[in-house]
Amino acid sequence: MVYMYDYHVGKNVMKQTAISFFTLGCRVNQSETAVLQNLCVRAGFKVVDFDAPAQIVVINTCTVTAKGDADTRKIVNKIVRKFPKAKIALIGCQAQLQGDQLAQLTHVRWVVGTAAKMNLPEILKEKRTGRLARVVISPIQREQFSMPPVGRDRHHTRANLKIQDGCDFFCSYCEVPYARGRARSRFYDDVIQAGKELAAAGHKEIVLTGINLGMYRDGALTILDVLAGLESVPGIARIRISSIELKTFNNRIFKKMFPGGKLCRYLHVPLQSGDDSVLRLMDRRYSSADFAAWLQKAHEQVEGLCVGTDVIVGFPGETRTHFDRTYSFLKKEPLQYFHVFSYSRRLNAKSKDMGGTVPVEEISRRSAILRELSRVKRRAYFESLAGKVTDVLFEEEKKGGWTGVSDHYVRVQVKTGRNLANRLVPVKLNHPHDQFMSGQLVE
Ligand code: SF4
Repeated sequence: MVYMYDYHVGKNVMKQTAISFFTLGCRVNQSETAVLQNLCVRAGFKVVDFDAPAQIVVINTCTVTAKGDADTRKIVNKIVRKFPKAKIALIGCQAQLQGDQLAQLTHVRWVVGTAAKMNLPEILKEKRTGRLARVVISPIQREQFSMPPVGRDRHHTRANLKIQDGCDFFCSYCEVPYARGRARSRFYDDVIQAGKELAAAGHKEIVLTGINLGMYRDGALTILDVLAGLESVPGIARIRISSIELKTFNNRIFKKMFPGGKLCRYLHVPLQSGDDSVLRLMDRRYSSADFAAWLQKAHEQVEGLCVGTDVIVGFPGETRTHFDRTYSFLKKEPLQYFHVFSYSRRLNAKSKDMGGTVPVEEISRRSAILRELSRVKRRAYFESLAGKVTDVLFEEEKKGGWTGVSDHYVRVQVKTGRNLANRLVPVKLNHPHDQFMSGQLVE
């Protein structure tokens, strides 16, 4: 740490190194960035916003698609243009798998893989000579883990709480098990303690995050125990499950979703394809009929449930007939919206050697069709909610009003001069739009 003479206080004071963060990818990355920011503050760094000048800029990378990889380079170039003196640290999934290539990028001084990323503050403080990037990539262990506290997550009203990491499923298109290692869980006591700290810091909604959340285990304890434990924490008004795999979903979770309960009536369950032969090639462990049966049960059990999904377009060998089956499935089944991803060939994934590459233009065409279908279905879902009253947790001011989300994950905007930051308030939903609903406060 450097000291400098401050004429205002008349003595030497510590000169803090300004550090900023940029997060690519999933909610697990977001939750880890929040923890790292807190660790850096405790280690004496001054955390500043990404747009502000900083001596060190950390990018928490993603490698789930080729776009995630390309985004890292784009952000690096942007930083170099805007803050040419900044030193850059690349950490996380892409760093774990492509460390040597990333170390060649301009201004990159550190490359820290998944296993070592929580040691970032110490790594940044090491004495350095020369301009070569320091690359820290080690094997990812399988043990259960605990995590340092996050304090207040300054960038999210709804705080992400990581309870699990890694995956054992090895779906044929995915290299996450290589980038993040095998499935492992955070100690239950550590999870509940983190929930208490987030509640004490003022967070009303906790979003459970993990790579394969339904695989959570601490001895005999499962995600159901985590939900029960967090429900009893004073100050936590809402708990949300971020994304969960069909094959790991415990139907007893439905019992916890009811109006006035703490667990949000919202689930995101990746489908990936509506065609059984493509699902088999993807090693997805379920059929389209399994998924449809689960959806029916889900909506029978939970009134007003919102279910979103992910779908991959252009998996090797996906013919027009396969695609049409996916389209029909998505159109017919009670899914309220979907995220559409173009297939991305990953070097560690089994599908990289599969034949039947779908041309890029065809992938774009199919993706556009599904995105439009998702827009229509989301809009229809919004229309079904018009006139209903629901609690909204408000997050930020927007165009003379405030925006937040309902428990079924509908973005809601109201016009008001009141400050609604982090307030959970009943709202009458009025008008559907493509991406949100407008509403009015119920007083
Ligand atoms: S469940 Fe499949 S897609 Fe999801 S992280 Fe694991 S291997 Fe990847």
